[in-house]
Amino acid sequence: MIITDWPNAVAHIDADYFFANCELARKPELRGKPVMVLGKLGSCILAKTPEAKQAGITTAMPLWDAKKACPKGIYIHGDFRYYTILSRYLMSLLGEWSPVLEIYSVDEAFMDLKGLRGLYRMPYNRIADRIREEIKNRIGITVSVGVSVNKTLAKVACELNKPDGTTMVPGRAISDFLSTIPVGDIPGIGRSRSELLFKYGIKSAQQLAETSQNLIQRWFGKTGVLLWRELRGETSFPIQKDSPPPKSIARTSSFDKPHTNLQVVHGMATYHLERAIEALYRHHLLVKEFALYLREKSFMTYGLKHRFESPTNDFYELVKALSKTIKNMPSNRIWRSTGVILSHLSPSCGQQLNLFEDPKKIECQDELNQAKLDLNKRFGRTTVRSGATLFISKKYTINKERLDLPLF
Ligand SMILES: [Mg+2]
Repeated sequence: MIITDWPNAVAHIDADYFFANCELARKPELRGKPVMVLGKLGSCILAKTPEAKQAGITTAMPLWDAKKACPKGIYIHGDFRYYTILSRYLMSLLGEWSPVLEIYSVDEAFMDLKGLRGLYRMPYNRIADRIREEIKNRIGITVSVGVSVNKTLAKVACELNKPDGTTMVPGRAISDFLSTIPVGDIPGIGRSRSELLFKYGIKSAQQLAETSQNLIQRWFGKTGVLLWRELRGETSFPIQKDSPPPKSIARTSSFDKPHTNLQVVHGMATYHLERAIEALYRHHLLVKEFALYLREKSFMTYGLKHRFESPTNDFYELVKALSKTIKNMPSNRIWRSTGVILSHLSPSCGQQLNLFEDPKKIECQDELNQAKLDLNKRFGRTTVRSGATLFISKKYTINKERLDLPLF
């Protein structure tokens, strides 16, 4: 265990009930009321104000149940373009406070505070409070801040004084702090892990931090040991200024209502494939394994896989793989959702050419793919698209100005 207060100082900043908070920012007259934001299809609750929570509303609750629990609530269809703009504004404000910022999700970030006490001439808790105040004044939403010696402890601390609070956990206070935290509240310890720990009598996060390294290694492997070190005040997960490239790319969605039409399944999967390829290009990646994701009305789920001989980002090769896997789909089923998952990704620079591939052909395909992406970037993301997508609902293919924050 460490014995100094601030060997490092990391802040975790997390917007409170973000989507609902964004709605309050533009409609202040809704403050103090039970406000709920609905998902894209308007069928379940994505975010809720504390007043809605008090009325018994939970995240992901179906709209039908929510209306029974809170008939006088205000139900708003999610406006994700607006939330994206506010998210960018939030991150740019945070970036003004510290140049070392890791954008962790649409409404969460980690910030390195080390060295800022001297710059701003105030202690870390005051910096955290000032950040909260500034976001409230300039954007109109509340955030909570946790400050500790590493990312895991800062994230756990941040949950303690929500909404609109600051929680400080300096090095010397870690043990006392962790004694009050149930082991299941540590990020990365899911329900099954907590159940295992409960069997061994480990209930608090402090008990986990005091468990021997050998046992942690045996139960949870190397990643468990990294987390265990963080609970002991060491740093296993440094702040990553540039987020690492994704390990897989998934694009999926549910149909408006379950159905049996294969052309629509094919069209929707193609639409998702085109979006996944955009992401491949954006991250300069190649894919080795493709999977067609399918879910039946009964929630039975399938992942039909195709492995490429060599890693690729070629649209035509990927479309061929999709058509091949579509043919292997179980027949006479009612489908609820579909999409694609690209995995085994590798960087596209220095791509190894297969001995039997014609380099000129690859170059031409690459130019063609790039031209399609450029046109869509300039004139709207579905300007050039596969004919298979003609069979899907128009709402997916109406051209809108594109915001390229890859968080939604
Ligand atoms: Mg949040």
